[in-house]
Amino acid sequence: MSGRMYRPGNQQRASSSTSDCRCNVVLIYQSGMRSILRYIPRKCRRLLIVCMLLTLTTLVLLSLHREIQNSEWTSEHIFEKVHDPFGSRHERKCIVQHYFKEEALADTHLSALQRNEERAQCFIGEDVNVDIQMEDVWDTVSIGYPNLILTVTGWLDTIQMSWTAKPLHVIVMPHSHQDPGWLQTVDSYFSGSTRHTLDLMVEKLTKNPTWTFIWAEVGLLQRWWAKATNTQKAQFLRLVKTGQLELVSGAWVMTDESVVHYGAMLDQLMEGHIWLKDHVNVTVENSWAIDPFGHSSTMAYLLGQSGVRNMIVQRTHFAVKRHMAKQKSFEFNWRQNWDVKGTADIFCHVMPFMLYGIPYSCGPNRHVCCKFDFYKKQCFYGKRRKDLLDISDNNVAELAKELWKQLQMKSELFRSNVLLMPHGDDFRYKTAEEWDKQFVNLEKIMDYINNNPEMQMKIEFGTLKDYFTYLHGSRDRPKTNTYPVLSGDLFPYSDRGEQYWSGFYSTRPHFKYLVRQLQHFLRSAEILFTFSVAGLNVNTNIKNLYSRLEKARQTLALSQHHDAITGTSKRGVMRDYSSRVQSALDDTIEVHKKTVSNILGKKTQKNIFVNITESFSTSGYFPTNVVCTLETPINLIIWNDVGQPRHELIHVVVDTPFVKVNDESSRPVIHQISPVWDKQRYINTKHYLLSLDVHIEAFSLSTFTVSAESVRSESKFAALYNVTDRHNNRSPPLELGLFRVYHIVKTFISVTSACMTAVFKTCDGMLYSVLHKDLKDTYRADTHFVTYSTGRYTDPFRDKSGAYTFVPDGAAKDVSEKPHVIVVEGSLFTEVRAMYKDIVHISRIYNISGVLNEIVHVENYVDISNKYWDNTELVMRIETSINSGEYFCTDSNGFQLHRRKTRSKMTIQGNFYPMTSAAILESDTARFTLLSSHSLGVASIVSGWLEVVLDRRLVQDDWRGLREGVTDNTQSKTSFYLLFEKKLLRNRERQGNVRYMCLQTFRSEFVADTLNSPLKVYSTKAFDNLQSTEIKTKLIPSLPCGWLVMNLRMLNVQNKVKESLITIHRRGLDCSYSAGSMTCLNRESLRWSDLRLQLHEVTETSLTGVNEIRKHQISDPLNVEPMQIKTYKIAFR
Ligand SMILES: [Zn+2]
Repeated sequence: MSGRMYRPGNQQRASSSTSDCRCNVVLIYQSGMRSILRYIPRKCRRLLIVCMLLTLTTLVLLSLHREIQNSEWTSEHIFEKVHDPFGSRHERKCIVQHYFKEEALADTHLSALQRNEERAQCFIGEDVNVDIQMEDVWDTVSIGYPNLILTVTGWLDTIQMSWTAKPLHVIVMPHSHQDPGWLQTVDSYFSGSTRHTLDLMVEKLTKNPTWTFIWAEVGLLQRWWAKATNTQKAQFLRLVKTGQLELVSGAWVMTDESVVHYGAMLDQLMEGHIWLKDHVNVTVENSWAIDPFGHSSTMAYLLGQSGVRNMIVQRTHFAVKRHMAKQKSFEFNWRQNWDVKGTADIFCHVMPFMLYGIPYSCGPNRHVCCKFDFYKKQCFYGKRRKDLLDISDNNVAELAKELWKQLQMKSELFRSNVLLMPHGDDFRYKTAEEWDKQFVNLEKIMDYINNNPEMQMKIEFGTLKDYFTYLHGSRDRPKTNTYPVLSGDLFPYSDRGEQYWSGFYSTRPHFKYLVRQLQHFLRSAEILFTFSVAGLNVNTNIKNLYSRLEKARQTLALSQHHDAITGTSKRGVMRDYSSRVQSALDDTIEVHKKTVSNILGKKTQKNIFVNITESFSTSGYFPTNVVCTLETPINLIIWNDVGQPRHELIHVVVDTPFVKVNDESSRPVIHQISPVWDKQRYINTKHYLLSLDVHIEAFSLSTFTVSAESVRSESKFAALYNVTDRHNNRSPPLELGLFRVYHIVKTFISVTSACMTAVFKTCDGMLYSVLHKDLKDTYRADTHFVTYSTGRYTDPFRDKSGAYTFVPDGAAKDVSEKPHVIVVEGSLFTEVRAMYKDIVHISRIYNISGVLNEIVHVENYVDISNKYWDNTELVMRIETSINSGEYFCTDSNGFQLHRRKTRSKMTIQGNFYPMTSAAILESDTARFTLLSSHSLGVASIVSGWLEVVLDRRLVQDDWRGLREGVTDNTQSKTSFYLLFEKKLLRNRERQGNVRYMCLQTFRSEFVADTLNSPLKVYSTKAFDNLQSTEIKTKLIPSLPCGWLVMNLRMLNVQNKVKESLITIHRRGLDCSYSAGSMTCLNRESLRWSDLRLQLHEVTETSLTGVNEIRKHQISDPLNVEPMQIKTYKIAFR
């Protein structure tokens, strides 16, 4: 075989930004006209040329413009221009068949039940009745920022506060914010700072019974506990018992709330809560999140369902804080947009000032509050400095009066006369001197105030629990239910001017991708582990595996920290996180291999060595496939870890192109052989991609046999098309050995599957439109790359984008480079590959049965490590024909969808939101859903457009403490599903009129699982003499549509009775869209006994599994309401 390495052509980056793909058409028309005009007298020629060119150009541009603007494109319109060389060779059904086939309902039954079942599964939404709807607040607030020289001082300096002296009860709450990694690694911070703070905390609080402290980060506490002496542990426990020390949040880390998936959010909360229950025997009541960059309502929901009653948050847009100050609404009951009855409300306190440090904690004037930071030497007053003094008899009266006044002013912002004064900052209280200076000086001031009755103030040290107890219990204050009710979330976040913290949504996307992979692999490993060991006697091997799981859980939890997954740590620290995640992935993969062997071994009574066919690397190109050698036949074992059956393609790399594949019943399996692309660019001439069309039942392992075939059949091979744009005369040669290569010249490429036709532009290899066959509708989906830059401003004092913030210097510009386009056409999938110098963009159309037939799968492999990309954000923009107006939806941590509004009063960056897994454009008649493999920033700047920031390379710091830019870019992969759906008018009323939220549809929810929990593929040497039916293993029966087992997590392996926590999320689905023939079984009668888990006992618990709610009978129905998540502790027989 003579296939040689293929490189994309020597494209030069055009300096002009106007060479849009569509403009080439105009140039051709112009050159044609020139030859005609040669025959016209020279005198008139110039004038005529000019006139005609102008007229023609205008006409062409106008007609193109009309085409582009016309949202009601018909299929004929496109096919006028497009000759379709890639007609579907194999007819496949454009319906989801066999959905829950196993339940074996008769066909007649299916159709009769369908409507009812659909209704039963649907979420009938209605708007919640609240006092503060954040989307409405954004419409009304002024986002102007005070034009001060030192804007960093915070907006409240500028507010003239009127205040009166009143009785106050002040809780002074010392705290220390501990980042498990940021400027230093977690190890370095722990040994240099955290452990000293914890040692001193136990020592000082024990010696001084009136002193109090709070601690939030359980992951760091666990490290300290492992080395603490018995005396220290005993003292620690006593301090918790007396209430001097309060453990707040109880989470492993103070998680980011923008780009974290709710599965991992809950995992790290569980990890912390369970550790606290086991080691300290406490359950947490109050949450403390002062540093995450914006706050999500999903976090509020998870906390509330985990037994937390009150929460404190901090980083919120300055305009929202100003609004809350005017309304006295810094304290409110936070309601989910779907929770009409308010059953999941949680009380929330927003800290009113710009930051959480001491200068921003006692009152509105940071220059005064700074004086009470007794460990500091000096305070700054603008450019002046003032030495800080310890409290003495000489100055106590004056300083007490100043503090008293600040507290009185601060309390004007709240509805109650109980006031919280936090007192701490990053990595504080790490020396004995600081403990003494802060506490002793504060004590002197507090004594002075308490001993002067005319000040009418009681001031004492306390914890969050003290504050909230006094607040809610106080007689002369409003009761909790008189506080306003708020819905929505606290995004976007800006702390000053136009500096929106919307950049980090896409900072270091490779790390975000890797963390999400760890999350999927860990969840899958947890489920396999529970099935593998439930009911077994513990042996050493199982203990070893369990410790690998525990390590991986803790690494996943650590990576949710607000400076980890956000990508906002120093580059060395990011490397440290990456290597931890890599090793956790290795651990979970080991658990996969061993548990699958174990489950199969139990079935077959054999020792089966299983390998996984995917491997990950933190630095290289990924994921890489392990090559399956077919010298002898192999078995592929496929694991579906979700509760619904799936019809998908799986891909493995093999060393021969001639293969035979059979399923468990020895029936041949349809497959395709395509090239393997090294680093996504170069064709590997030794290996081949084998793609199988498989149907796997819910929660089951299925086995296929693959062997080399002696008969050389090339009919399974994909054909390659080397595409030259009709107007872009480049066609590098392509020699690919076994694969047939065709050269074609075209303006558009169309790819047809059973369900749809997708049309691509040949000039840039990107999607242009989608025609749904059954819907008879064509949607424009013009996709291209654009870039934002930040460096154009010459003013050195003007801030530019950095790791946190996004500050573009104008509208996005088109990427003008023209890629080399190759089409790989096969019977199961066809892909269009656009190879740019630093980007490989792949669009894949599937031709299998099932919902995947209806999507376009887009992957980008982006490498912007070159200096050429300095101060650039690379964006994939999809311009659709959906008339979405100024609204679009983005998901909140993958748990729910908020309806967002693009506001012209905001800058571009203020209109970007985090997309953890989905973004939606919707009109009265149709919907476009973009599903993403991991978190990135997204916006809909123009009606019908969605743009996603794929990666960003920034050479400067953005003045938030990191002191470096982001220039360690590595290749990053992004994976998206694009889905168009038509709205069924007859169903409109069913969903109700919900303005502030969106819901997933049946289809989008189903394909999202495919993207988020890909089928896992293992290989093994083919079993000998084994009836293949023996190795089909089904662990749990199918669940209804929308039901997700978020986790099935073993609690211990030591105890005689094995226990797991099973967490189930029932997603609310939108029935305004057809479910097609997806038939969701009516599971109102789903019972615990239906699960094949040999259950002994079932107890409903709080979400993190530590508080028992009630015991269930095994015969009880399993009942989770739409939108809810519930956790149950299950014990196995
Ligand atoms: Zn922090």
